[in-house]
Amino acid sequence: MELMEKVVSLCKRRGFIFPSSEIYGGLNGCWDYGPLGVELKRNVKQAWWNDMVEHHDETDTLPGAPSPYGMVGLDSSLLMNPKVWEASGHVGGFSDPMVDCRETRNRYRADQLVVFALELTAADGARTTFDEMLFAALGEAGKTEDAALIEPHRKRIAALQKSRSAQTLSLRVIPNALYDEALRAKTLAPGASAPGTLTAPRAFNLMFKTHVGALEDNSSVTYLRPETAQGIFVNFKNVCDTARVRVPFGIGQVGKAFRNEINPRNFTFRSREFEQMEIEFFCRAEDAPKWYGYWRNRRFQWYLNLGLRPGNLHLREHDQSELAHYAAGCADVEYDFPFGRSELEGIANRTDFDLRQHMQLSGKDLRYFDDQESDPEKRRYLPYVIEPSAGADRATLAFLCDAYSEDEVGGEPRTVLKLHPRLAPIKAAVFPLVKKDGMPEKALDIYRQLKRRLHVYYDEKGAIGRRYRRQDEAGTPYCITVDGETLTAGTVTVRERDSCAQTRVHASELAAFLLERIEA
Ligand code: ATP
Repeated sequence: MELMEKVVSLCKRRGFIFPSSEIYGGLNGCWDYGPLGVELKRNVKQAWWNDMVEHHDETDTLPGAPSPYGMVGLDSSLLMNPKVWEASGHVGGFSDPMVDCRETRNRYRADQLVVFALELTAADGARTTFDEMLFAALGEAGKTEDAALIEPHRKRIAALQKSRSAQTLSLRVIPNALYDEALRAKTLAPGASAPGTLTAPRAFNLMFKTHVGALEDNSSVTYLRPETAQGIFVNFKNVCDTARVRVPFGIGQVGKAFRNEINPRNFTFRSREFEQMEIEFFCRAEDAPKWYGYWRNRRFQWYLNLGLRPGNLHLREHDQSELAHYAAGCADVEYDFPFGRSELEGIANRTDFDLRQHMQLSGKDLRYFDDQESDPEKRRYLPYVIEPSAGADRATLAFLCDAYSEDEVGGEPRTVLKLHPRLAPIKAAVFPLVKKDGMPEKALDIYRQLKRRLHVYYDEKGAIGRRYRRQDEAGTPYCITVDGETLTAGTVTVRERDSCAQTRVHASELAAFLLERIEA
């Protein structure tokens, strides 16, 4: 089984993530978090809130922000005045071009459907491109070496190879082929039996439309928010007027966002309903490059601090051609998911674009007033914005994939989720070694004590080895066993998940012992 299949299967089996409304056949692009999943995702969001908003200055492990700064939180409504989405550009432009396949009825995002041509290199080094055989595959343009891409076309490739004295075969990406009618006509779509079934790319608005109130006419149209960011921008003035913040400062928000994605796929990675964790950080225009650099590094470091393997994490600076017209810089934190390297989070210098747009359309003065600035010319201004925009579901998925391991303990295979203790759904499980001699009573007593401080679990059923395995799969970092010695000496064994090392700790010191390790 591939790693991704194993993660999906573990999520289902252990109650991390289920398909939404599964008994009715599900709803594409929507997922439900089960008892363990909800704890894991809440811990991801809580770690973000704690590190970015509540204790932002204490948890900064990087050498120095450009200057001290403030952070506050916000929780804005999901439904907003539709003018918000006009100002933000979502009504006019939040659309991914998409193509349909007339034969398979599949719909694809044009930028994700890559068209490949076959290239044969002869013994003398001469290269021939066979543009009579173009095929499209879902994926990133960099993957021209992938043998799996060739596989469905083996027969046709073999026929082509037979007719030429070719030595090696490779693939070449044809950029923007779907926009060219002639090339489209020659392109074989995924799963189609003949070329030429793809339509030209067309705009497709990703916002879910709905109606507010009883009347379903044009005047009542609004949208489910496709990002949390705009809720922050429209409250910029409210926050400035009430929270005694001074630029530079940031506003953080965690909440649901909805996008009618054309191709929901890769488990929760691309969903139609998901959660974002966004910061809009306001600073002076001249300081924006410094703050951009700071947030890019800080957000990258956050994932490392929570245990993602450094080799799987990458920071990719966009080049000029990839930038939105208003952006002065953008970088993605990317993670090597089992299905390929993909975006976890984007950090952008959005200039003063958003506030300027809202100021224009609302007619309200959104400029910041700096009463301590001595130069009257510089007192009133629209700040620049640095936006670190992360996905709670994508982060949760990355933590799950990264933590998934298989090893052997005592000659037996085990599956273990090596989650960072801060993220683990259950922090410790308490077991009586056997169900007699007063051990369950003592274990329950310890469980109840710990429960006040930590999310703990009690289990007395089955062999102790099985109980350990169950917790390993759930990612529980510590298992506490009450045994004969507990009753005589007051100590318990604490087994550490990854090393399986056991330590004896006095029951009275257990809470402190665990808290010190879990909060590290
Ligand atoms: P993509 O290119 O993958 O569609 P994006 O660049 O449009 O993403 P942003 O608009 O920058 O994404 O959103 C910020 C973050 O929100 C992303 O980095 C991701 O973590 C999360 N996100 C965006 N779309 C989805 C989705 N459909 N499902 C889950 N998370 C998402």
